[in-house]
Order: sequence, then C-alpha cells, then structure tokens
Amino acid sequence: MSTMKAEAEVSFDQFELAPQVLQAVHDAGYTHPTPIQAEAIPLALEGRDLIALAQTGTGKTAGFTLPIVHRLISEPLTDAEGTAVRKVRALILVPTRELAAQVEESFRKYGKHSDLRVVPIYGGVSMDAQLKALKAGVDVVVATPGRLIDHMERETVSFSDLEVLVLDEADRMLDMGFAPQLNRIVREVPPYRQTLLFSATMPPEVEALARKYLRKPVVVQIGRRSETASSVTHAVYPVAHSKKTDLLVELLKNFDMDSVLIFTRTKHGADRVVRHLEDGGVKATAMHADKSQSERTRALEEFKQGKIRVLVATDIAQRGLDVTGISHVINYDVPQQPEDYVHRIGRTGRAAASGDAFTFMSPDEISMVRTIERVIGQQIPRISVPGFDFGTSALSS
Ligand code: AMP
Repeated sequence: MSTMKAEAEVSFDQFELAPQVLQAVHDAGYTHPTPIQAEAIPLALEGRDLIALAQTGTGKTAGFTLPIVHRLISEPLTDAEGTAVRKVRALILVPTRELAAQVEESFRKYGKHSDLRVVPIYGGVSMDAQLKALKAGVDVVVATPGRLIDHMERETVSFSDLEVLVLDEADRMLDMGFAPQLNRIVREVPPYRQTLLFSATMPPEVEALARKYLRKPVVVQIGRRSETASSVTHAVYPVAHSKKTDLLVELLKNFDMDSVLIFTRTKHGADRVVRHLEDGGVKATAMHADKSQSERTRALEEFKQGKIRVLVATDIAQRGLDVTGISHVINYDVPQQPEDYVHRIGRTGRAAASGDAFTFMSPDEISMVRTIERVIGQQIPRISVPGFDFGTSALSS
C-alpha cells in the first residue's frame, strides 16, 4: 500500500502530463488533484498495474482517463513507414450504460485538445452508429461487457493493439454477474498491457479477479487527508433556508473576522445579502457580472485596504480574483460543482495565512455537501447553532 503525500502541495503541473492534457484540466477548472488522482496518476503514468479503491464522486474517472489520454497522445501509433494509424489502444469496461456515457464524456473532456476518438459501446441502442465508428477507427472503447462481446463475435472490433485495460467499478460488474464475460474479453486482449482496476469495495471475488488479470499491482486508497489547503479549518453549518442571513449576521458578530469573502449562487442573492448586512450596520459590497469593471476594481481595492470587511461574490466573479489575506470564506450557498468548493476555499489559507471556511447547508443542499466531501476526501465537521439548525435528524450521513 502506498502512503499519502501531503496533498496540499500536490498540483497537476507536477505530473508529467502532456500540455494538451494539462490545458484540458485547466479548462475544467480543477486546481488540485483529488486524493485518489494524486495517488493513481503518477503510478499509472509509470505504467504500473493498479488496484484503486475509490467510489464514484472521488474523481476516479479522471484518475484513469488523464494518464490514458497522455499516453495515447505522447506515443502515437505508427506503421512501418511512420504513418499514423488508428487502432484501439485503450478499453474501459464498465457495468452500466450510464457509466459508459460518463466515462466517454470524460475522454471527450480531457482529450479535447487532441484528435483522439472514443466510442461508447453498450446495449439497448442500435448497432449501426457503433459499427460505423469502429469502422472509421477509434483509439478508445468504453463498453459494457455484454454488447462488447456481440461485437467481438461479429469481429467488428479488434484488440490486437490494446495497451491499457481498465475495469471500472469492478465490484459492481461482478455483482451483476459479468464474470464470464470479463474472462472472455480478457482472453482476447494482449497479455502485455497495463491493467487498472477500480472498485469501491474489495470483496474476495474482486481480489481473485485482480490476481488473475493484474501484474504486480500497486494498491491505492484514499486516505483521510484532503487536498484543500491544510491550514484551512472547514465547517458546515446546517441551517434552515430562511435563516441563512440571520446566521450570517450572528457569525459576523461572534467571530473575529477581518476580511470575509461570501459566496452566493446568484447575483440577486449577493445583492440581497449585502442589503441585509448593511441594514445590520456591516459594511459590505457585492461583486458579480452586473457590476461594471470600475465598480469591481473599486470594491476590490476597498476590500484589500480593509475599508470594506465583507465582499459578497458569485463564482463567476471570483475567477481570477487575487485577494490575499482573506481570513474567512463563507459559502452562503453550497457550490453547485465540487470544483467550485475547492476554488472558493483556495481563496483563504493562501500564502501562509490561515483561514476558516464555513458552509451554510440547508436541507436541499445535503447531498451536494456529501458529493463535495467525497471529492475532497474529507468529512467536514458539522456545527449546529441552536435556533438556526433545521434539526439533527437530517444530519446523520
Ligand atoms: P468521478 O468520481 O470521476 O465521478 O468525479 C466526480 C466529480 O468530481 C466530477 O463532477 C468531476 O468533474 C469532479 N472532479 C474530478 N476531478 C476533480 C478535481 N481535481 N478537482 C475538482 N473536481 C474534480
């Protein structure tokens, strides 16, 4: 079992990924690899076989997609004359159509600055499109086992040049009774290949599968530490939706907060929070797409000089915003994307300044908080403030 590194210092740039891949990661808005990515990507790039214990929501898909895209574009396949040829070089086996579609989408996202071609192959849809794509030539096949075997029997797909095999959600594939199909498929792919196995759990059946198909695998598992800045103290405040502004005023009163960056989901939300704070005697200003550039610059200057203690922003407005020395980030609304959480929190805890990051969670935001916790690989402590909390029954996870 490999050990966790200090994720706070891990960045995508230190993996030796092709510039086109790093650009795609950047376009996706990711600043730091998730814990499973931090472990899996360097090992996959070395060509090792891997058993990765990771659930959906941990960023596992990019954990195998990024190194595969890197490999395919940095070592193009050519014939004896040196002309580029297109053969299936990576096969991703998944239990369901939904997952096949998601993994396909990941290859499109991370391979967007290359000319890689990916085809999803699953049952329940017409063979025609799949046949056409295969005939035209593809680099990556993402498939459910049953439909793939149909194609193999018709000899419409060949794996003679396969370099990487991924078994995604291996435990689920076995639960669904796909063991015979997996055996059949693995028999027909070259023995000299890299095999990456992802599974949420490790029952004896998955271990047996790994022993059969993998060579000297490294086992990676998410630790308990997070990749978000380690000096940041996170907390989630369960709060009724209608009480968020009151809770905000309460926290601003009781905590020693020098400079606070508050995030709301909408522009209107930002304006409303500012009005409420000003009514309560707290100097605040909003920063969002409806504000002119000069208004934004002035707001930022005043905030930096300490004339305004509270800046209320939407996610769009904070991109590229360089404010150092923020003592607190408050997610008035839970971010819609896990990556936005990482971005927002990245605003504090920078340059040795330690900061706190509070997230207000109303009942409809519980599942998003859980998704974020899976991505950052960390459970965020809940703090219940009597009179504001929506009830402890909703807290158990
Ligand atoms: P997965 O576990 O692969 O299904 O990914 C879960 C979610 O995490 C997806 O919405 C990804 O876009 C997102 N994600 C993957 N990697 C990162 C990252 N390094 N930073 C932030 N979000 C990520």
